[in-house]
Amino acid sequence: MALLAEAKRVAAEFDFSDNDVQKTVAEFIAEMNEGLEKNATTMSQIPTYVTAVPNGTEKASRSPPLPIRGLYLAVDLGGTNFRVCSIQLNGDTTFSLTQSKVAIPRELMEAKTAKELFSFLAKQIELFLKTHHEDHFEAHIRRRQTVSSPEGYRDEHIFRLGFTFSFPVHQIGINRGTLIRWTKGFNIPDAVGQDVCALLQKEIDLLRLPVKVAALVNDTVGTLMARSYTSPGKTGTLLGAIFGTGTNGAYVEKLSKITKPMEGEYDATTGEMVVNTEWGSFDNGMKVLPSTIYDEILDKDSVNPGIQMFEKRISGMFLGEILRIVLVEMMKTPGIPLFRDDSSTVSESSPLFKQWAVDSSILSIAEADNSEGLSSLRQEIEKSLGVSAASFEDAQAVKEISHAIGKRAARLAGVAVGAIVLQTGRLTPGTPDTSKAATLQKIKDLELGDAKPAATVSVEGEDGGIVDIGVDGSLVEFYPGFEDYMRDALRVMGGIGAAGEKRIRIGIAKDGSGVGAALIALVAAKME
Ligand code: ADP
Repeated sequence: MALLAEAKRVAAEFDFSDNDVQKTVAEFIAEMNEGLEKNATTMSQIPTYVTAVPNGTEKASRSPPLPIRGLYLAVDLGGTNFRVCSIQLNGDTTFSLTQSKVAIPRELMEAKTAKELFSFLAKQIELFLKTHHEDHFEAHIRRRQTVSSPEGYRDEHIFRLGFTFSFPVHQIGINRGTLIRWTKGFNIPDAVGQDVCALLQKEIDLLRLPVKVAALVNDTVGTLMARSYTSPGKTGTLLGAIFGTGTNGAYVEKLSKITKPMEGEYDATTGEMVVNTEWGSFDNGMKVLPSTIYDEILDKDSVNPGIQMFEKRISGMFLGEILRIVLVEMMKTPGIPLFRDDSSTVSESSPLFKQWAVDSSILSIAEADNSEGLSSLRQEIEKSLGVSAASFEDAQAVKEISHAIGKRAARLAGVAVGAIVLQTGRLTPGTPDTSKAATLQKIKDLELGDAKPAATVSVEGEDGGIVDIGVDGSLVEFYPGFEDYMRDALRVMGGIGAAGEKRIRIGIAKDGSGVGAALIALVAAKME
């Protein structure tokens, strides 16, 4: 009994009340606007130079004799693997995709020069074309004899390629961006500060491949585009959000609200631009985010204390670690018999004693197990925590705490989604008032907890009043009830309420990096 009572007490420390939700949304909107006005704020709000989202009818024209303009290439350099795919957009919200995946050799992750890595990538593209688009490749080989440079190809014979590059870049155009720093085990100092699209294009040109790097894509933008293309109805998607290893979102903003200087060229006719929020670093100053001693321990022992504070409370990389820290602290508490009854033993090599060793998937298992004896959770405790013969009470304690951590994460995820819905005025009919005074008033209303019911909306077209959101990542896909808890948070937000929450449609965006990158390449090709 003492154990469960203690677990409940600890779990309560993760409560994130409706009032906290309101305060956090207000701060989120304030930081979003700050990021739109100036550089070097907590949320970077990076302009992507993508000025339209698809509606599912996109289809590239097929021009004989070779149908390659209907086919786009996409490559994804994200971490462990390099993916190459070709995508045929059918123009009826469907697509077909051919894909290949290759592990990046470790030595190339720490190559002496960027050239070594990028020439490997170009060779993979060549191999892909040869394997999957042989007809075209043969024609390409024939033509290679007669033209001296890629420019010598007729335009319709050049594949447009979308490059998903999931490392921090300073984007300066739709197909231009300089590497800020490597992460995830890569270390090629020579590449830092260089334009990654130019590096890839150079190697592609050396192989004389008929491929043009048309777009540089962040994975959140890919998610937004992919969802917008495939989502039911013809209303463009507002937001693409990732809740996986990390968390981030990209949304459609009014161009008039992006008042900080932009270096790149873009087509301003749509009046909109996709912005990559980099919301993982929301509230690094810890003005409103909930915090426990366990969050503090995690942050202090991380490689980047004080940074990515929102992400550290939400994403897959951190939730298992928060659970681990809580359990270790509880085991140290005198009189609390966690994993300490007569039969259970914790091995010395238990992942409980190793930083980052507990995967977040145990939270999903704990949440899903509603059996009388919590048997699957007890098995998982043995497997992933290295505790043999955990008692029913142990499992109950792990379930309580996992639930509290997961629920807080989902409610915080709801804050990000709600803030973007409110910021863009998508639930309100007519043109939203985007003046600074209106934004400040909105923030004030939220701070006062003014839970106004959302305005009734005029029904436009088949989707009248639906706000569409695309999500991706293991957490949102597999944690039971993640979306429900997000929705609970949305309902208590002033300006959304129960009526507004019902009009927010959230759907998984599959193959975001492939389809999304192809779609951005298509938009870019139209601008050429
Ligand atoms: P990525 O974000 O790297 O593209 P994923 O979306 O698969 O990849 O996210 C991986 C992260 O999700 C890891 O941190 C992992 O711990 C976590 N994760 C994987 N499966 C689950 C699950 N069933 N429940 C909760 N978290 C999970």
